[in-house]
Amino acid sequence: MLEAALVLSVLALGWTSVKLVGHRRAVRTVKDALQQRQTFLRHEHPGASGRDWVEFCESANAMIERLATLEAAQTSQLAQLEATLGSLKEAVLIVDSHNHILLANRALQDIFPRATEIIDQRLEVVLHSVAFLNYVNAVKQGTAESHHEIEFVETDETRWVEVTGTIIPALDGASGRWALFVLHDVTRQKRLERTRKDFVANVSHELRTPLAVIKGYIETLTDGHMEMDPTDRSRFLQTVQRHTERLNSLLDDLLTLSRLESSNPGLERESVELRSLILAVVEEYRNRPDAANHHITTKLDSAIERLIADPLKLHQVLNNLIDNALKYTPPKSQITIEAQLHAAQHEVEIRVRDNGPGIPEADLPHIFERFYRVEKGRSRERGGTGLGLSIVKHIATLHGGRVKAESRVGQGTTISIWIPTRSQR
Ligand code: ADP
Repeated sequence: MLEAALVLSVLALGWTSVKLVGHRRAVRTVKDALQQRQTFLRHEHPGASGRDWVEFCESANAMIERLATLEAAQTSQLAQLEATLGSLKEAVLIVDSHNHILLANRALQDIFPRATEIIDQRLEVVLHSVAFLNYVNAVKQGTAESHHEIEFVETDETRWVEVTGTIIPALDGASGRWALFVLHDVTRQKRLERTRKDFVANVSHELRTPLAVIKGYIETLTDGHMEMDPTDRSRFLQTVQRHTERLNSLLDDLLTLSRLESSNPGLERESVELRSLILAVVEEYRNRPDAANHHITTKLDSAIERLIADPLKLHQVLNNLIDNALKYTPPKSQITIEAQLHAAQHEVEIRVRDNGPGIPEADLPHIFERFYRVEKGRSRERGGTGLGLSIVKHIATLHGGRVKAESRVGQGTTISIWIPTRSQR
């Protein structure tokens, strides 16, 4: 009797274990099916059976199918959105409620080139701007203004971006809300605006100084013209004349620059015999008293043929460069005007070289900027406007060419300009 009970208990235990293992397998199958979003077959699991099991399998399979459909729809919605936004010029960014980046189009990388592989990353890891994060939070809380300008300070540069943000319903069907931002890079406009402001400030400053001097001297001349010593009067008048000439040169250079920068820079191209043009300019200088104490020589490549360029503008380039060489080198210095053909590159290089005091390395990258002077006093005293090299650069660029300055303190300066030999129409 006892033995029979024992056998029965062992059998029951065995049966329970088989069922338990079967159930476990069934649970694992359901788990895998859920993870892989794939429906499963109930008859594969004898351990789990009966009406409840069948109903469970049917509802689980229905749920898996619905989940798979929803996910596919979400992926395709995001893919569609990505494809649509990809070609947009404006940068678009979508983040979820936890600031994880869900979508960023190509234009965003144009603004932030270092922002690669950013999907699923947190916004604050990618875009380091407290102002932007504050704006994101304000958009999410509905307290943001529609347009906001944000300055992104990166290690090597600053970018200004106009941002517009809005809340959108989550595309994954979850209850959370996403935030969409449209970013417009306004760095170029900002820089232009700043350059314009600096320019206006510089021009006012440059005009004010000679005007103040002229005004002062004229007042003195007017008040004391009866009793003034004739030598003093003459000295005063010469000063007024010098400053009037300075004003004149400044206005001339400003007008030239503004013309060169306008949409119609007035380039009159024609076939130019460069060597003759250079020789004619040098001849003019040889007859000028201010060049009498300098040695001006030429070294012209005989292979240079005619080129299509604006002869008056090239004349101006040579004038500006030779004037500088005369202004900034002591008497008896050597000035050489060289021209060389680079046949393979289809360009001709014109160099004005001097053996004067040179330009410090730190100033060299800036000398083509408007109003940049290495020694302000010396430039003004020699009648410099600070615009000569800027005009040279503009003329080279308008011809499709470029400029370069090389200099060593104590050894001299060489300013080179390259002009294409083929027409750049
Ligand atoms: P500026 O009217 O003052 O001469 P530029 O634009 O022609 O203005 O030149 C800018 C500055 O570059 C000058 O003020 C001068 O300091 C420096 N510079 C230009 N050419 C030379 C040169 N040949 N040697 C030394 N310094 C030069």
